[in-house]
Amino acid sequence: MTVQARQIVLARRPQGAPRIDDFALGTAALAAPAAGEVLVRNLWLSLDPYVRLALSEQPGLHGTVPLGDPLPGMAVGEVIASASAELPAGSFVLSRVHGWRDHYLAPAAELQPLSTAAGPIERYLGLYGLTGITAWGGIYGVLKPQPGETLFVNAAAGAVGMVAVQLAKRAGARVIASAGSDAKCSWVTGTLGADHAINYRREDLATCLAELAPEGLAAAFDNVGGEQLEVMIDAMAPRGRIALCGAIALYDGENYRAGPCNLFAAVEKHVSLTGFNAGFYFPQAPQIIADLAAAEAEGALVHEETIIEGLEAMPQSFIDLLSGASRGKLLIRV
Ligand code: NDP
Repeated sequence: MTVQARQIVLARRPQGAPRIDDFALGTAALAAPAAGEVLVRNLWLSLDPYVRLALSEQPGLHGTVPLGDPLPGMAVGEVIASASAELPAGSFVLSRVHGWRDHYLAPAAELQPLSTAAGPIERYLGLYGLTGITAWGGIYGVLKPQPGETLFVNAAAGAVGMVAVQLAKRAGARVIASAGSDAKCSWVTGTLGADHAINYRREDLATCLAELAPEGLAAAFDNVGGEQLEVMIDAMAPRGRIALCGAIALYDGENYRAGPCNLFAAVEKHVSLTGFNAGFYFPQAPQIIADLAAAEAEGALVHEETIIEGLEAMPQSFIDLLSGASRGKLLIRV
């Protein structure tokens, strides 16, 4: 059996924000699985900002996609042909690399088997996957908010941010959030339950934080980096804690690893900055997923997914994700 896979490939290395011509639709002929391999038909593909880093030539854990190669990403799919006793045809699997395509061949040992018992399978790309585990790790693993503390979350209407806001509220914190439009801010307060939301494109973040938290922030969850991280460091209370989750404001630039210019303010105020990587929490995934499911069952957790149809829509959806046009977790149904 030969399958003609369709895949989104890197046509041109983006300069600044990615443009539609940076991507192209390619094909690859896939043979029948060899011993230990499976052939998978992807059902759902995840859109994640870290993929932008793999399109650049900057050094980092993400690697660099060669021109003409398919993009890497998370996906859930169904095994349609198998030469592995562990993953027979009909199994559902998660891949952390074989996104951005409709079919792929891979060794069964590299894939994570999934059960459909916990609800819709695409949840393993969102709430029960990278973004939910990231929010859980940043809030409960790093920041550990105490009741009554004031905690700030930026990019709060995004996939990680929306879960982080709600977990912080569940822990009893007072939550100040920021997002890039008035509509997103209304949703972050009205639906997610944040106490205040700042539209950082229209309002001055530093001024708003000074007004809303005159004693300073006890904790902050940073998805954005760059100038927002600098504002955050200045806005922290003595002994404040910052969880460094991402730096999306820098991903289109020439050095996404650039540091804030006011780091010494952290020394003066005894502020901790803790970087964290969701991968370090994957061994705890079953307990984390159970806790997220419990939060949902309590009515303390809303998870919004924006579903886009078809592999061809993926490049534009990725551009929309990075530019802030979307809300919640963005998924492609293949
Ligand atoms: P989101 O769904 O939050 O999408 C990204 C959002 O970031 C956009 O919608 C936009 O919303 C906002 N944004 C984009 N550019 C800027 C900018 N220049 N300044 C301020 N906000 C901006 O993505 P995710 O939830 O998937 O990821 C959020 C962050 O978490 C990213 O930095 C990502 O890399 C990181 N991450 C880290 C992980 C880890 O293990 N540490 C794992 C997964 C994600 P808006 O309209 O509000 O501007």
